[in-house]
Amino acid sequence: MKISSNFDSGNIEVVKAESPDDIRLRIRVDAGGEFFQWFHYRLSGAQGADCRMVIENAGEAAYLEGWNDYQACASYDRETWFRVDTEYDGKNLIINHSPQLDTVWFAYFAPYSRERHHDLIAKSQLHPRCQHVVLGETVDGEDMDLLVIGDEANEDALKIWAIARQHPGETMAEWWMEGYIARLLDDADPVARQLLQKAVFYVVPNMNPDGSRRGHLRTNAAGANLNREWQTPTLERSPEVYWVDREMREVGLDFCLDVHGDEGLPYNFIAGADAIPDCPERLITLRESFEEALVRSNPDFQREHGYPKKPAGQANMTMGSAHIQATHQALAMTLEMPFKDNANDPDFFQGWSPERSIKLGHACLDALYQIIDDLR
Ligand SMILES: [Zn+2]
Repeated sequence: MKISSNFDSGNIEVVKAESPDDIRLRIRVDAGGEFFQWFHYRLSGAQGADCRMVIENAGEAAYLEGWNDYQACASYDRETWFRVDTEYDGKNLIINHSPQLDTVWFAYFAPYSRERHHDLIAKSQLHPRCQHVVLGETVDGEDMDLLVIGDEANEDALKIWAIARQHPGETMAEWWMEGYIARLLDDADPVARQLLQKAVFYVVPNMNPDGSRRGHLRTNAAGANLNREWQTPTLERSPEVYWVDREMREVGLDFCLDVHGDEGLPYNFIAGADAIPDCPERLITLRESFEEALVRSNPDFQREHGYPKKPAGQANMTMGSAHIQATHQALAMTLEMPFKDNANDPDFFQGWSPERSIKLGHACLDALYQIIDDLR
């Protein structure tokens, strides 16, 4: 029996793995020493055995509410990720599974690999409407990829931004990107066709390549939580934000979605930036219109459950959506998807899944289509 994690986005430390019924594991802490919750490992040579895998430091993870009613993801082929019996006793996360095959992968959520990211960029650039731009480098020296979709020669075009995976463990955000991008590049899609007559789309499918590859939950290679770096990003600590923020200022911005995953809440929801200082009433109304349109477009989205509203003027201006909304006086929102499931329409086999994240990416374009004429 062998447990390994020395691969793209792998994260686990083996304390003990001699007997299937007493496997003891720990999650490695992100650079910066503060956060951890993402895990991703491979178990081999335990076919047919009743495996009991205890993650001993789960009780010190970043979001303990994330473990309540949580079921770990597993896969034999690394394409279909299904949920397995998991319990949390207040200290340990205990994953129980009897592998049907020699090797099985486990992860906090369906992983989205760097290879798949490169495939997404390569495939997208084949479309004549899509350009690939490298904005700069990450701390580890990876490229910061931007896709530009639409006609930049159209001077009246709105500038529609979407960024994902500032928090690298929130892989559902890059699955969402697959749906969003595929629809924009679908010549037969009437909504995409109309949107592209009015707008150019600027898309950053992965804001945190280093953290993704290193198997972090929340930080980049320098230990920075990128969604707290927008006020004063630096090339040393947060080049990923520095490059994207600079490009946003250079090309302009009329709308931005910052796509995330939430550990605790089993719902899809939006956190607005209404609490920025002197937020124009117009942007609050626009946000409400977008949310209402998204509710109509995809029943997986809802407005009942979400973060508590911050008092006016009290926004955390180091966060992406607040900084962007204030800087550009344009609608910027954080979209959250669940790690667990959509409690309004649960899927007991997969829980919240890559497939449904992709569909939500599609639907956000339907919702945008409903409000696009009001953006300026
Ligand atoms: Zn996040």
